[in-house]
Amino acid sequence: MIDLRSDTVTKPCDGMRQAMASAEVGDDVFNEDQTVNLLQDMIADMLGKEASIFVPSGTQANLLALLSHCERGEECIVGQQAHTYKYEAGGAAVLGGIQPQPIDFEPDGHLDLEKVKECIKPDDPHFAKTKILCLENTVAGKILPLKYLSEAREFCNRHKLRLHLDGARAFNASVELGVDIKDIAAPFDTITICLSKGLGAPIGSLLAGDHETISRARRWRKMLGGGMRQAGIIAAAGIFALNNNISRLKEDHENARLLAESLAHIEELAINLDEVQTNMVFINAPRKGANDFAEYLRDKNILISPNKRMRLTTHLDVSKNNISEIIQAVKSYF
Ligand SMILES: *Cc1c(COP(=O)(O)O)cnc(C)c1O
Repeated sequence: MIDLRSDTVTKPCDGMRQAMASAEVGDDVFNEDQTVNLLQDMIADMLGKEASIFVPSGTQANLLALLSHCERGEECIVGQQAHTYKYEAGGAAVLGGIQPQPIDFEPDGHLDLEKVKECIKPDDPHFAKTKILCLENTVAGKILPLKYLSEAREFCNRHKLRLHLDGARAFNASVELGVDIKDIAAPFDTITICLSKGLGAPIGSLLAGDHETISRARRWRKMLGGGMRQAGIIAAAGIFALNNNISRLKEDHENARLLAESLAHIEELAINLDEVQTNMVFINAPRKGANDFAEYLRDKNILISPNKRMRLTTHLDVSKNNISEIIQAVKSYF
């Protein structure tokens, strides 16, 4: 099966499994797992942050960030379609008493800082205390410009806000822009990285930031049940991913581009090539409906999630030959 539903579906390769099998381990709740410690140091170093913490999922990494920055009754300004707001089961509100203030993303995925400014609440007992701004990069496969990131930093300094990046796919942005991931991370107080997306690890995310914030996150992680023991088994997969799977993200982007350009003339799909910047192609469901289309493709061993607007995601288990097969199958449908 060629699975385009998400870049989370990748399976660990033999080399990664061998790294996992031979990982040195210890009890990570006692900070004694050497492999986890190495991964945390590697990521902190790569991102130019003081420290990082290894967690089971990106959802938990973002939640730890919000819980570590905010008290009950404080507020987070976030995108209406952002993962941290829409796709994390309301965790920050449920578990942290943190009020989300969502605002629409602009078409290119940035939050208009003028609109953010209008949402900042005055210091008045009627209101929650606005504490943090959350951005996402990449956002629906689109890259936030570095210039915007530094404007967001200056904005947050001016308004005494913290700044968090959901960087689940930040490495896709850095590879595509050809910039050091440090330059993407620098404006942010904290940043989340997913190892289990395009980087190809089976499990794991990290939250990076300053020592103080990360040590608060460590306490929250334990409370949430995320304190794992011989977690070096999975951290080893993360180290393998960082050593082997970063620069190859470029291939995923090229494959997405090839797919998008080859299908762009099919009007019903309404592909916007400007939005194809990394490993995602968005298409409209054809007239006969998303289910009909998805079933047709499934018979040709291609998996997509049937929605009105569908996301086709490339990743390390989708080869260039697979892209040709997909193009043929979609063309034959029409
Ligand atoms: C996948 C993803 C996450 C984290 O998801 P988990 O499935 O919990 O690891 C966070 N943000 C974005 C933008 C994502 O795509």
